[in-house]
Amino acid sequence: MANNSSKPPFALPAWALALLFIAVIALPLVLAGMADEPIDFWTEAAAATGIAGGTLLLLQLVSSGRFKRLSGRIGIDVTMGFHKWAAPVGLVLVLLHPVLLAAPVDPSDPLVAIRRLWRMLSAPNLWDGVAALVVMGLLIGTALGRERLGLRYEVWRASHAVLALALVGLTVFHALKHGFYASEGMMRLFWPALAVAVVVPMLSVYLRKAISLHRHDWRIAKVRARADRLWEITVESATSRPLEFRAGQFGWLAATGGRMPVYFDHPFSIASGPQDGTRLRFLIQEAGDFTDTVGDLPEGRRVGIDAPHGSFTPDALAGAERIILIAGGVGIAPMVGLLEDMQARRETRPVHLIYAARDSAALLDRALLDPPLQAIGGKATYLADKPGGAEGVGQGPITGAHLRAALGDTPPERCATMICGPGGMTTSVTDTLHQMGLPLAAIHYERFDYDDEAGSIKDRQILTRFRMVGLAVGLAALAFALR
Ligand SMILES: Cc1cc2nc3c(=O)[nH]c(=O)nc-3n(C[C@H](O)[C@H](O)[C@H](O)COP(=O)(O)OP(=O)(O)OC[C@H]3O[C@@H](n4cnc5c(N)ncnc54)[C@H](O)[C@@H]3O)c2cc1C
Repeated sequence: MANNSSKPPFALPAWALALLFIAVIALPLVLAGMADEPIDFWTEAAAATGIAGGTLLLLQLVSSGRFKRLSGRIGIDVTMGFHKWAAPVGLVLVLLHPVLLAAPVDPSDPLVAIRRLWRMLSAPNLWDGVAALVVMGLLIGTALGRERLGLRYEVWRASHAVLALALVGLTVFHALKHGFYASEGMMRLFWPALAVAVVVPMLSVYLRKAISLHRHDWRIAKVRARADRLWEITVESATSRPLEFRAGQFGWLAATGGRMPVYFDHPFSIASGPQDGTRLRFLIQEAGDFTDTVGDLPEGRRVGIDAPHGSFTPDALAGAERIILIAGGVGIAPMVGLLEDMQARRETRPVHLIYAARDSAALLDRALLDPPLQAIGGKATYLADKPGGAEGVGQGPITGAHLRAALGDTPPERCATMICGPGGMTTSVTDTLHQMGLPLAAIHYERFDYDDEAGSIKDRQILTRFRMVGLAVGLAALAFALR
């Protein structure tokens, strides 16, 4: 079998991304600081929050998880977590911008500042700034409240992209027209350069999809039920051109046919090993508008695949003496790809799969799990939450006892685990394994739903790092205001 497994592409580590992010936000503050003498504290603080907040928000265009150099090392979970965390921080900074311009507050007549603020927000020549604030509010409000607002995912995603582009235009227009420092020295170049730097990669994703559509010409080869409401979709490249990917990665799949790339695509793990990149398997659980229809997809249908993405790969297992794979529900999809890859690479380390589903009918057909497990001498624990399971299926959910059994007699600090499943399961399994002695660096997970609860010890550690980045941005803005 030819090995088409690709080498990990160069991607920046988390610390370098954090430094780069801080540096890009600090750069305009430094350029503005060099350009002119400071005015007064409030005006400078307002300029600092406007510049830092505007830059931070524009940078969100490239933190969508589609850029391998950015999210290839840290993973899509952390990338999306940062995107969700940073955007509201940017909104707070830009909201402070007009408030600080209206300050200081005169204690003898606090309403003066409010009247000043109102005059500013209602001034016809500042329409662009107000429009930018409204667009930002819409972007963040609809992202956080999408489900409560009853917005279809596709509608929300399309509007998110359009609003993001509108935000870039309005922010740059406002900065160039009214910015205190925008016309000074090198600052004249900053906003246009930043706009190009964030919009071009965003648009290049669409170009990449078009190229990929013609390069591989993926067609649906087979659609098959593999459990209750769980479908196996096999696609083949009509050009026989292999996709180079690593086991456990995912692709954005658009399956509405046609010659043009379709932009309403959905992320799905590649549930096959990378050894044959001309034939890919996906395991898709019915979960909504698109996935409910996958069972009816006709064979021969042309599909667009933007892949590979993600860092849920065997690299995570380097150095470990024992491997524990933990899947909940359709989280089994990347595990099938990982197991097939282990079979092809003749994995010699002990491997234990723990796989839980809501009931035994929802458990994936073992014909996809047994051959690779048997080939590598791996063990499996199958669990179902509802009693009355089939033979060999224990009572779910996953408990500490299941995890302890999977660790066997290998010291926990020498084990590594990969987890994929619902948010609650991921959190509880991560925390329990960490309490048993597994280092956080040896616990890897991928979430299928960005709205899932992200509350594990590891998530909290990541959040602390995000906050440190935010603090650095705040300190840079303060240093500018106090210079
Ligand atoms: C990295 C990753 C890998 C995934 N792998 C698989 C897999 O192998 N098999 C599988 O069955 N599912 C997988 N999913 C989940 C799958 O993408 C969603 O279930 C699917 O997109 C739902 O689309 P829908 O139109 O059927 O449902 P909708 O009714 O449109 O949405 C249901 C929910 O799914 C989520 N969702 C919808 N569209 C997207 C999207 N484009 N991007 C992210 N989330 C979305 C939203 O939270 C939404 O509320 C994966 C998700 C991610 C992020």
